[in-house]
Amino acid sequence: MGRTIVLTGMVLAAIPIGDYDRRITLLTRERGKITAFAKGARRQGSQLTAAASPFAFGEFEVYEGRTSYTVKGASISNYFRELLLDFENVYYGFYFLEIADYYTRENADEIHMLKLLYQSLRAVEKESLPNRLVRCIYELKAMVINGEYPNVFSCMECKKEEELFWFSPARGGVLCDSCGGHGEIRLDSSTVYAMQYIVTSSIEKLYTFTVSQQVLTLLESVLKSWQKAFMDRSFKSLEVLEQNLFSISS
Ligand SMILES: [Zn+2]
Repeated sequence: MGRTIVLTGMVLAAIPIGDYDRRITLLTRERGKITAFAKGARRQGSQLTAAASPFAFGEFEVYEGRTSYTVKGASISNYFRELLLDFENVYYGFYFLEIADYYTRENADEIHMLKLLYQSLRAVEKESLPNRLVRCIYELKAMVINGEYPNVFSCMECKKEEELFWFSPARGGVLCDSCGGHGEIRLDSSTVYAMQYIVTSSIEKLYTFTVSQQVLTLLESVLKSWQKAFMDRSFKSLEVLEQNLFSISS
């Protein structure tokens, strides 16, 4: 027999099903990532229309059947409406949702990933940091939460903790000045410090610093090289994001 439960979480994706329904992917505190049916969510005037949309965060009253979940009602505390007002922010937002979808699983403990996603979308919305930096912080911290991230504290070769001036995805992290220098990415100490901060900081304190353009560019190349080596899929929203950023800047 099924029962109705209340789950706290955020809608990562919503796809139309049949004539009037939606199937949503929900990242929850209690059950990890689940999919649920929102019956009638595409009917005019349905109370589920807004709740069964990407970015909606709040409490979802869900009927738990034998093989599927059905949304009965929702009390949404944040729709991220301000984020949705700006095209660039929306592209970043959808990319962040897709990254969260990539890393999370059903019935796994995804509390930290949910918290990171929420704080990161808030950071995009608040405009106090450049979106490019928010993206780097989010990407690296998501790797940390999921346990596969570069070592940025000591040389992968000799374990030295100073003069870490090279980055090699193939070696799994940084190399010192004497061990590196063979086609890796050349770093500077501010970039290494920024990565160390992101790895160790609490999620609440992540979005409290800014960096120079040079550090930002280095962070981007480090993360890109790492993702290229270790992530086994491409992100549709990332292609859209990069095409549009290119057309904005050109
Ligand atoms: Zn070394």
